[in-house]
Amino acid sequence: MTITGKVTLKKGKEVSLQRFHPWVFSGAIHNAVGAVDGAWVEVQDYKSQTLGYGHYQRQGSISVRILTFEAQVPDERFYERRLDDARFLRTAASLPSADTNAFRLIHAEGDGLPGLIVDWYDGVAVVQAHSSGMHADRERIAAALGKVFGEELKAVYYKSKSTLGGNHAEDTDAYLSGLGAVPHVVNEYKNKFYIDWEEGQKTGFFLDQRENRKLLTHFTRGKTVLNTFCYTGGFSVYALSAGASVVHSVDASEKAIELTRKNLTLNGYNPAIHECHAVDTFEFLKDKEDVYDVIVLDPPAFAKHRDARHQAVKGYQRLNTEAMKVIKPGGILFTFSCSQVVDRQLFYDTIVSSAIQAKRQIKVLHHLAQPADHPVSIFHREGEYLKGLVLYVE
Ligand code: SAH
Repeated sequence: MTITGKVTLKKGKEVSLQRFHPWVFSGAIHNAVGAVDGAWVEVQDYKSQTLGYGHYQRQGSISVRILTFEAQVPDERFYERRLDDARFLRTAASLPSADTNAFRLIHAEGDGLPGLIVDWYDGVAVVQAHSSGMHADRERIAAALGKVFGEELKAVYYKSKSTLGGNHAEDTDAYLSGLGAVPHVVNEYKNKFYIDWEEGQKTGFFLDQRENRKLLTHFTRGKTVLNTFCYTGGFSVYALSAGASVVHSVDASEKAIELTRKNLTLNGYNPAIHECHAVDTFEFLKDKEDVYDVIVLDPPAFAKHRDARHQAVKGYQRLNTEAMKVIKPGGILFTFSCSQVVDRQLFYDTIVSSAIQAKRQIKVLHHLAQPADHPVSIFHREGEYLKGLVLYVE
């Protein structure tokens, strides 16, 4: 790897890196020599000891994302090794399996690659850069994927227009290898899903809810189910696979509702019976008292930044209060937050406050999180973002 610059930290700012936290904030830097946006730099402490190497970023508060804490310069096989390690971890977690051929292969800091997401859809790797450095290295990453997966790799699709903030919009969202003429249907616990990585949200599918979707099946036999913020209809398909009597799916986006209909049909369920509504969830819930036994609330991140946290909490509180008010007695509520800035405790407290407002007796049955293919470095708590609760509403 060519190292083009050197970043020296202020005295005392080396401590978090010595504990393997991979972010160098702009305020920690004493000086940066030859550091170019998106290039590799060496990071040193105030005594000129090497702390690691990483990608330099001009915009934003994180100036360097450390990719290796080792003293030697990373070689050309760096990405291959990281991908091998990530694959090893997934294999240990039974991914892929006979039932499931879609999983997250690289979860940024959790896999020692800050700024990079790679989702694997039955041989199609969808690569998403969240930093200039990963954008600059995209061809290297595609080549490393080819080396590690060989014939198993059918295509690499690069999709970073939305995550790079428009800075590099001209080169993003294109196949880096493969022709694009690849199947778009994957299996997840034997359910089939059509994945639209080209037009869909994020990389095309929310793989992070896999285990929570599976858990939902324990609660849906013979039940009436409402899946709000349904996107591709993941929770709807699972509910039906376990014998739900009727499932209604709601999403504000027409495109999402189309995908839900497509996925229902793909799995043999009739969207004319299992209604799909392109409407705001709050609107939909207005006159639905005592209709549903099970309700899923999986909204988008209400807060993407700390400043928005208060508003987000109010949003979660209102949403959950409405659902608790309308659910049938003895109902089950699956409720989630994927806002990283709303931590587990704050989310829990918010749900308590919804219960108070709704005036319902509620029991907590499960605490939910992101699955094993979305690992969190123990030194990087920020990697933990998905939390959920399964509630019994008396
Ligand atoms: N539950 C999904 C992922 C949800 S992503 C899964 O398992 O795959 C969040 C979804 O919420 C998006 O599809 C977005 O279109 C939708 N959305 C955002 N605001 C909404 C609102 N006010 N009402 C209904 N849907 C909304």
